[in-house]
Amino acid sequence: MVPRMRSTLLALAASLFALSAAAQPTPGSSPGLGPPNTGPISPERLSADDKALADKSLAGRAPGGPGEAGTIKYLTEQLKAAGVKPGGEKGAWTQDVPLMRFEVQPNPKFSLAMGGPPKDLAQTKDVMIWTQRPGARVQAKAAPLVFVGYGVTAPERQWDDYKGADLKGKIAVILINDPDFEAKPGEPVFGRFGGQAATYYGRWIYKFEEAARHGALGAIIVHETAGAAYPWSTVVASNGDAYDIQRTDAATVHPLLQGWMQLSLAGELFRKSGLDFDALKVRARSPAFTPVPLKATFSADFAMKDTRILSHNVIGKIPGAKRPAESVMFAAHWDAFGEGPRAEGSADGVRHGAIDDGLGVAGVLELARAFAKGPRPQRTVVFALWTAEERGLLGSEWYATHPIYPLETTAANFTMDVLQTAGPSRDVVLVGAGQDSLELDFAKAAARQGRTVTPDPHPEKALFYRADHFSVAKRGVPTLLLMGMAAGPDLVIGGRAAGDAWVNDYTTRCYHQVCDDWNPLWDLRGAAQDVALLYEVGRGVANSPRWPEWTTTSEFKLIREVTNVFRGLPPSPAAAALLQAQPPGGVQTLPGGVPPAGAPAAKPPPAPAKGPAARPAPKR
Ligand SMILES: [Zn+2]
Repeated sequence: MVPRMRSTLLALAASLFALSAAAQPTPGSSPGLGPPNTGPISPERLSADDKALADKSLAGRAPGGPGEAGTIKYLTEQLKAAGVKPGGEKGAWTQDVPLMRFEVQPNPKFSLAMGGPPKDLAQTKDVMIWTQRPGARVQAKAAPLVFVGYGVTAPERQWDDYKGADLKGKIAVILINDPDFEAKPGEPVFGRFGGQAATYYGRWIYKFEEAARHGALGAIIVHETAGAAYPWSTVVASNGDAYDIQRTDAATVHPLLQGWMQLSLAGELFRKSGLDFDALKVRARSPAFTPVPLKATFSADFAMKDTRILSHNVIGKIPGAKRPAESVMFAAHWDAFGEGPRAEGSADGVRHGAIDDGLGVAGVLELARAFAKGPRPQRTVVFALWTAEERGLLGSEWYATHPIYPLETTAANFTMDVLQTAGPSRDVVLVGAGQDSLELDFAKAAARQGRTVTPDPHPEKALFYRADHFSVAKRGVPTLLLMGMAAGPDLVIGGRAAGDAWVNDYTTRCYHQVCDDWNPLWDLRGAAQDVALLYEVGRGVANSPRWPEWTTTSEFKLIREVTNVFRGLPPSPAAAALLQAQPPGGVQTLPGGVPPAGAPAAKPPPAPAKGPAARPAPKR
């Protein structure tokens, strides 16, 4: 279904299609009638870079693994040869990314007291609990449980499940997905969170972060297969193994205990508290919902093993000719899953990560070459190759919390995570349609190629929240994401059926597996067309004084508006009111790491001096 919140933008996009359809198509760009228009992007070079990155000598490119040094060497050599400048820390090509691995040690103890003697709970069978707080041992003794509904604080949707409740020392019990996921027509919340389409508020990561912002000791989500979009087996697959960037503020970002409980256990928990789980779910769909204390306590005791890992992002740049302090960023992740157990029919267990995301990285390298050859852009163009995406978007998270180019003046982030290898296509699938104005530029650029944009056919899969662009999106930077496995493209040869077949085959057979390896038989012309689209849109943003914007229904619009002053834009009363409404030194109520009122904010830029010569060069 197309959710209602998206309809305005889609109508706008449709009118743009109509406009651009009147324009003359580029000769030879009509699908099926000539060579596909790939602009400056070469399918052959995409293939050559991918072949090098997927090579066995790089051992599957695990962050901090035996292939990291070789990977970084290859990437920096390519960026240097392209003619771009080092864009990392202190004039280097890299940014240090300190990571932490957290492993729950065997035989963790959990119990739930529901009015009687405590009932022991088994890890992976009843619950799946882990932590992202450093320490050798995690203990919680008889912590009270509080049901907080969907655990959502969404000021732009006039929604607050917590209602100021203090969760200190307590454990939040939270429903998965967002409040209108199961709402019926006529209910007050119906459509308020985009219906079946996922929002950030429905994601488990958000729910943990929000519980931490309310001071919770723990956050446990009730697992439901439909709402989570995956079965319990997926929840327990991590086996308590988690990663994070090294943080000085881990205690404010993560509750001490994070995890899931089985639906059947939740039913028992609510029953023994004299409550009905299903009736409370209905109550949680009302904006008037307030947290409900449960007559139960939770205890935990387990040992942890923490390991520190130093990995690196690789970053190149072309300084802007006219507005160097403003930037546009192209990104992909260089890491893959390293070497695992030997796979059947293979000599080893190297998970090459050729398509995920070797091809995205190859795309960024091609963009660097294309931008370096063209006229120098007005804004600084940044080429970022992140580490540790597969560990939870961590290289990009580190960057977003330690930005080299201020996020306030990063005009846009373009991310590629998986490109298709099945040949030229008549369309390109856009993940997370309806989020920002870059999508309109994208539709126009696609029309110039003689192609169309197909909106994400599975917004309920929440792919928009599952790639590196999201690390900066949730902090307000407008983004555009290409994810070749989101849905099948309409291929020039074989149509949508062939595109779907490619996605299905890749997803079931090779995704994150040994078989995700480089193949000389690939047809990368479709991938090159897609990269060329980002080149067109990105070039437009890099040469414009305009700031791309989020749509009014986006979760990230207010977060961006908080920093309007940095972009020379008038202050946003809505964003100001939101900051003002927060208690002094109180919790953050925005999902994106915006500081609470009274917290030291970054310095706004000095008033612009007259004339380009008077403008100071940016400090990098
Ligand atoms: Zn990926």
